[in-house]
Amino acid sequence: MQKINEIDELIRLISKLPGLGPKSAKRIVLKLINNRDELIKPIANSLAQVYKNISRCKICGTLKPTSIECNFNNCKVVEKKYDKICVVENISDQWSIESSSIYKGYFHILGGTISSAGQRKEDLLINSLVERVNKDKIDEVILATSATVEGQTTAYYIQDSLKNSDVKVTKLAQGLPVGGEIESLDDGTLFSAFNNRTKIKSNSS
Ligand SMILES: [Zn+2]
Repeated sequence: MQKINEIDELIRLISKLPGLGPKSAKRIVLKLINNRDELIKPIANSLAQVYKNISRCKICGTLKPTSIECNFNNCKVVEKKYDKICVVENISDQWSIESSSIYKGYFHILGGTISSAGQRKEDLLINSLVERVNKDKIDEVILATSATVEGQTTAYYIQDSLKNSDVKVTKLAQGLPVGGEIESLDDGTLFSAFNNRTKIKSNSS
């Protein structure tokens, strides 16, 4: 293959995306090059827009327009709508739970788990979760982390971090398949995991 630095770099970057290796990255890059105006240009523009205008809230971890406060699902609680916070690992988990319509409440997205590669406790938004719970007088924190060792370690650490807060802590039912990641569960499994959640800490304990 002819060596062109720009192309090699693009292949290298695209092969870092989930589910893609160098082979599929090459196919994608060829497709892009063959469709300069229909694909390369709009994708480059769209990436630049997302990079410039969208970011994760530093308090609750949801995606939001960078320029405005976090008012949607929502850590800057202007008018209190809910008394529950559901804690998930990633934004994809929030999207799965939202689209299943099982749960009405606020979300808190940690941004990973404690022992996933390179992730330290301090990088996850756990301190800001405790602050939200205390400030917004939350009644229940639902731990919806994965049924993996990392997910359960993280859940335990959060439960411990909330031990001095006046809040009930629940965990999704054990019906979750072992190793089950929230985003890959079907609505039925998610529904019963929410409905049969178990209490692991009471208010004022
Ligand atoms: Zn927020």
